[in-house]
Amino acid sequence: MGKRKRRNLNRKAKEIIVFALIIVLFIIAEKTGILDKFEKEIVEAGIVDTSNVVKSKTNSNEEIITSVSEEIVIDNEKLNILFFNVGQADCELIICNNQTLLIDAGNSKDGEKIVSAIKELGITKLDYVIGTHVHEDHTGGMSYIVDSFEIENFYLPYNTHSTTNFYKKLLTSLTNKKMNISEAKIGDKFSLGDSSCEIMSVDNTEPENINEESIVIELSYKNQKYLFMGDAEKVNEDSRKWNDVDVLKVGHHGSNTSSSEKFLEQVLPEISIISVGENNSYGLPKDTIINRLNEIGSKIYRTDEDGTIQLISDGESNEIVKVNLSLDGN
Ligand SMILES: [Zn+2]
Repeated sequence: MGKRKRRNLNRKAKEIIVFALIIVLFIIAEKTGILDKFEKEIVEAGIVDTSNVVKSKTNSNEEIITSVSEEIVIDNEKLNILFFNVGQADCELIICNNQTLLIDAGNSKDGEKIVSAIKELGITKLDYVIGTHVHEDHTGGMSYIVDSFEIENFYLPYNTHSTTNFYKKLLTSLTNKKMNISEAKIGDKFSLGDSSCEIMSVDNTEPENINEESIVIELSYKNQKYLFMGDAEKVNEDSRKWNDVDVLKVGHHGSNTSSSEKFLEQVLPEISIISVGENNSYGLPKDTIINRLNEIGSKIYRTDEDGTIQLISDGESNEIVKVNLSLDGN
């Protein structure tokens, strides 16, 4: 055997030994979890971009994809929540796997516009309709909804004896349709496509302050939770424990009657939505509430500044589309 050949063989043997050592070290590193730690460190340092980074609830800097659109486009594979711009009022439409839930219907003057906007989405039937309480800015437009859609389940706080015109009109519409009002009870649950809803608060005893009647709904969709407060106030917030949620429809249009520090510390929303009228005479939302939401790192969207807000979720994260659409009947 020539000298050169033997040298080549020696080099090959060394290469094999080194290669085997690397493999052994790699196996040890993986078994002891060192690799995971290293991977986590480079991800946290932002060296490697990975779509599998675990979402952290306390990370207020988490990126939320936001875009602007001239029209509403529903993604039927995902959860869609529309916070309609109805001026100084509330109206939210939730669509999940072609099932629908309407929470509130704006003021009376918004009723026709809301009906048209929903019909334009190709919707003729509403599976659930909830009037959170019998103030005009929530149930004023509700008779138009009852007149215009096939409705499977209709909820209102139960013992309301309002003598307002919009409420009388709503009762007439319900009678004409031979529809009953279902009593919402705390703990009641129903499903909406792949999502589930739970009534978290309601006062059926006709409290003096009608806001306190508010039906509060928590919606869960895969890994996400959404909380719709209506105009619930501090007394309602203090009445129970709350889950950590991803998105909060802020109570009472950002008034300081609601969103107490104790409550916000429990719900810790990444996104807060405020339904509020441009230059409204109540001066809402209040700076105190905006500051509180900023302090907990919540990203705020408001219908007076962002228009109709569409939230689209795959159950892991939320995308915001600001739609240039106003249903304010003014
Ligand atoms: Zn209100």
